[in-house]
Amino acid sequence: MDIHTKAVHIGDRKKAGTYTPVTTPIHTATSYFYESTEQLDRIFAQEEQGYCYSRYDNPSTAALEELVNSLENGAGALACASGMAAIHLAIFTALADRRKSIVAANAIYGASVSLLMNVLQPAGVDVRFADVCNLDDFRAAVSESRPGCIFMETISNPLLRVAELDRIAEIAREAGAALVVDNTFASPLLCRPLELGAHFSVHSVTKYLAGHGDVLGGIVVTDREHLDPLRALSRTIGPVLGPFESYLTMRGIKTFPLRMERQCANAARVAAWLAAHPRIERVYFTGDPAHPDAAAVRRLFPPDLTGAMVSFEIRGAGREEIFHVMDALQMIVRATSLGDVHTMILYPVMSSHREISPKHRERMGIRDNLLRLSVGIEAAEDIIADLDRALAQ
Ligand SMILES: *Cc1c(COP(=O)(O)O)cnc(C)c1O
Repeated sequence: MDIHTKAVHIGDRKKAGTYTPVTTPIHTATSYFYESTEQLDRIFAQEEQGYCYSRYDNPSTAALEELVNSLENGAGALACASGMAAIHLAIFTALADRRKSIVAANAIYGASVSLLMNVLQPAGVDVRFADVCNLDDFRAAVSESRPGCIFMETISNPLLRVAELDRIAEIAREAGAALVVDNTFASPLLCRPLELGAHFSVHSVTKYLAGHGDVLGGIVVTDREHLDPLRALSRTIGPVLGPFESYLTMRGIKTFPLRMERQCANAARVAAWLAAHPRIERVYFTGDPAHPDAAAVRRLFPPDLTGAMVSFEIRGAGREEIFHVMDALQMIVRATSLGDVHTMILYPVMSSHREISPKHRERMGIRDNLLRLSVGIEAAEDIIADLDRALAQ
């Protein structure tokens, strides 16, 4: 079944006695009642399928999990209260019976760096960073560290690098490490990491999947080997998504492939327009044929679906000029987050990369004149007109 069809149908129309709701209701009950205690006992023992307590599972959340699992072609999924809770749960599951050591890509989401450095490392996990876009260096780091887990993003933030995910999966397998991929920026329309050999694909559903700026959530999709340990861990620590958020996310996902196609097409137009603008020094876009990872993009992503994020540098601009351009925007939303229906702009130096020293930022290639745009579903002409006006000020 095509992803557009799955997005609309999977997970819905579960029979509830004599009737079948067309879409999945919001089940708010925290516990479940059965005619016989015998049956409740079997459900507690997990000998019979059924719901008993919402920290274990919930029908609204189970429907969302079935849907996202189907989009990612995994063995099962577990929805969490945030993207960060999902990343934490995936890494914990990966490390459960492996060496307590992680090699992570050096360009990852700020809170993921904090999770590794401020939570896992103090808890005794060995953490090391390496360049996933340089396979020889990455292989060397893995053979030195012999990690239990490798962590990376499909498309990095904010410079939008794309590593050869399938080759990294081979390196992980040879080393006996579990590969956890944060697939938030690519979405399952562009890339399904489990098909390429990853063990876990994780999303902040807050972004493209829910897509309307009204849900905070995350999800872990995994393979057969890790599904039971993932569920068991979650039953104990309870980082689960609530039924209201599950409902909103499922509703959002019905149009996710359509939105993402439009956002990718809009991003290609905006990136081309920016590249030709005299005030723009440099544009970072995964669809650019001159992108440093263009070969990986061509090999791993579908043609014309290369992502909807565009980063760009304004020639000679510092903080003051950047703020001036941002404040001159009339439609594009100045706010953190990404993947929503509306176009959003963010200054990484002020937000996602605020805690990193200027020197370290410079080494990472994140300059003081860099802006990051999450392109929405508006008419491309209107997005371009807003940027044009702001850049002319
Ligand atoms: C937003 C984001 C996260 C964290 O997700 P939350 O839902 O905010 O917890 C993790 N990774 C990436 C790439 C993100 O963009």
